[in-house]
Amino acid sequence: MAVTRLPASAAGIGRAGAALAAGELVAFPTETVYGLGADGTNPRAVANIYLVKGRPPDNPLILHVVDAAAAQEVARVWPDDARRLADRLWPGPLTLVVPARPTVPRVVRGGLDTVAVRCPSHPLARRLLAAAGLPVAAPSANRSGQPSPTTADAVARALGGADVPDVGVWLVDGGPSPIGVESTVVDVSRARPVLLRPGGLSREAIEQVVGPLDSPGAGEPARSPGMRYRHYAPDRPLVLLAMDPEAAVQALRQRPAAQTGLLAERRVVEALDWPAAVSLGDSPSDAAAVLFEGLLTLDRWPGLDRLVAVWNNREGVGWAVMNRLERAAAEVMRA
Ligand code: AMP
Ligand code: MG
Repeated sequence: MAVTRLPASAAGIGRAGAALAAGELVAFPTETVYGLGADGTNPRAVANIYLVKGRPPDNPLILHVVDAAAAQEVARVWPDDARRLADRLWPGPLTLVVPARPTVPRVVRGGLDTVAVRCPSHPLARRLLAAAGLPVAAPSANRSGQPSPTTADAVARALGGADVPDVGVWLVDGGPSPIGVESTVVDVSRARPVLLRPGGLSREAIEQVVGPLDSPGAGEPARSPGMRYRHYAPDRPLVLLAMDPEAAVQALRQRPAAQTGLLAERRVVEALDWPAAVSLGDSPSDAAAVLFEGLLTLDRWPGLDRLVAVWNNREGVGWAVMNRLERAAAEVMRA
């Protein structure tokens, strides 16, 4: 598939906005990860997102909007919790699931009667949304199941090989996505708000605005269809050591380092003499920013046949890092 880069200039953004309005696909940076966008009012354009990603058709998309007023144009009702959260936390890495207007194409909603909306804070995403003048449906700009791209190069590598000759993608290069994991998804369509997916905004920040968040009931997989599928996984099998740094260093000293790529906090990497290692830095936000690029880097590293990640911290955005690693891993080992 052809991927055509555009600069992050006024001309590049103008070209990308016109492409969206014409029903074409545009990959663009957000503060979370790079998105693969299409006109969210155009079912044929949105269908191409599913084609290019190889995404299951019942996994709904997030509509990206420039402000809360634009969100209300796709929402059938705008619940009080949506108003409070949007007032306090938009623009930012928070997605709200609200009742959908029937005009929102089924293909966007995955057949549900709700729709997910988010107002991103990344300045290029905001300029693009303003230029397009449309709600932009956008999942992460990778093939379904693989780690999400946080740089334009990662998008080009992820999508360039897709076997979809009739569809092209414009790619706005805006540098690395600063947060590095997807948005937090909260369902405000029913009586009590439910946290459907941990993400770039901490649970604590949301609970400060609307009080305690529920978790989806065990018998309600349809509440968050995307959580059913394998996700974020590198090609090489990944083992997650869900242990504290000291225990992980002990465990790793017993393992052969050859052919194994290591992704761990700086203090773990520095305590070991590991030939193929990527540091997750010193904090949950460092780790989120490096996570996907680290997995993709190790997955391309010559001579490796497996990867090991070390993480056991659910503080703040650490919870989202844990969630992505647990879902990416072929095996999880706990202390
Ligand atoms: P992605 O675009 O892959 O980051 O995933 C979007 C996430 O939002 C998935 O986990 C979806 O299940 C979730 N989502 C999108 N729309 C809805 C909706 N209408 N109801 C519940 N979850 C949704
Ligand atoms: Mg994704």
